[in-house]
Amino acid sequence: MNIEIYKCPNCGANIDLSKEICDYCGVHYKIRTYQQLNGIDSGFISKIATLYNNRDNVVDSNLCVGLCYLKLKQYSLALLKFEKAIENNPLNGESYYYKALAILQGKKPFLLNRVNIENAENCIKSAIAIQDSAKYFFLWAIIRYDYYYRKAYNVSPDYKALFDNAIGLHLQGEDVKEIYEIIGCEWEKTFSC
Ligand SMILES: [Zn+2]
Repeated sequence: MNIEIYKCPNCGANIDLSKEICDYCGVHYKIRTYQQLNGIDSGFISKIATLYNNRDNVVDSNLCVGLCYLKLKQYSLALLKFEKAIENNPLNGESYYYKALAILQGKKPFLLNRVNIENAENCIKSAIAIQDSAKYFFLWAIIRYDYYYRKAYNVSPDYKALFDNAIGLHLQGEDVKEIYEIIGCEWEKTFSC
């Protein structure tokens, strides 16, 4: 039997990929949320991506790698990983939500074509079907505002209704920041919270 040894991307000690934190240096090497990547340099993020790449037997490894690629602005690689994550674990709403963000390719919805917009919206609907989360509704509200409302397309639900849903579910400032960072825009004046 071929036993692979994995090394901590920070200190080089042997680690167990099913755990999340290095026993020796205390570094967090398994990523579950985009916010965990705040303040981490891109070299280290690449190491985490390499560590978990193609480890389908490790729970949510594809989500972890996808988040790394999303942070590194490698949107097509991120998209592939989120698709894999959904295949392996279809009941994690986060994979659909981040897939929607990868489809937006770091751009404002206004700049994308209709096919991409509808694909991203379908991902958000899948995420919401699994779990109600303020940030899912907020991302959908942004798409409905920037792509539909600004182009004067009528849709239901409109961005105001979706924004109200997000507020009702206690939208957090850090969720807003995360989405703004990924799609590179600032609409604090429209969506103040
Ligand atoms: Zn370590």
